[in-house]
Amino acid sequence: MFPHLTVPIRERSLYYHLFRHTRLVGREQHVFALVPLARALAVSESTVREDIRQLHTRGCIQIEERTKSGHLVRVLLPSEIDGVLPSASVAEPIDISSVDFFSERRFVRALMEREGGACFYCLRAVRADTCALDHVVPQVTRLDNSYRNVVVTCHDCNSNKQGQDSREFLRGLYRGGLLSPQDLAQRLHALEQLEAGALVPDISRWPSA
Ligand SMILES: [Zn+2]
Repeated sequence: MFPHLTVPIRERSLYYHLFRHTRLVGREQHVFALVPLARALAVSESTVREDIRQLHTRGCIQIEERTKSGHLVRVLLPSEIDGVLPSASVAEPIDISSVDFFSERRFVRALMEREGGACFYCLRAVRADTCALDHVVPQVTRLDNSYRNVVVTCHDCNSNKQGQDSREFLRGLYRGGLLSPQDLAQRLHALEQLEAGALVPDISRWPSA
């Protein structure tokens, strides 16, 4: 994403990780506990501690506070990092909350990955090149093309749901034998998470898809 970030590779992956969990999801800072961070990056806790300090020294991040639960870290945008980057050649990172997932088909792979390669409603396998995109809350109610309202579906669900309420539609699939009781419970839970903004697609992995 930032080809000109001239820091060592291990610090660079740490920075990307911190960036993905802050700026890419619309926040500036976040508490990072060292143990899960070390695990996510497959390095030791002392390595992570050292690399966080290095990134802080370089001005890529700011350690705001050290608490029992971890480091409160503010992550700077590449454009805000002095001297580390030649600023002209760096593309602005994308603010995910403003991405139009319905019109911008190029992010469909990120949605596919979030949905685990299956229709959000009936759980049948779908493909990125042929799947449909559906508004959880229909367009007639409110115009929301964000990741909180756009899901990958099969064509049957897309055309059968129309303007129906998503929860009612899921119950209909259950009554029709297309979802087990466990599936229905899991789908209703996924719907809740989606609406709460907890299901954030990772668009950094599919920059030009
Ligand atoms: Zn379906």
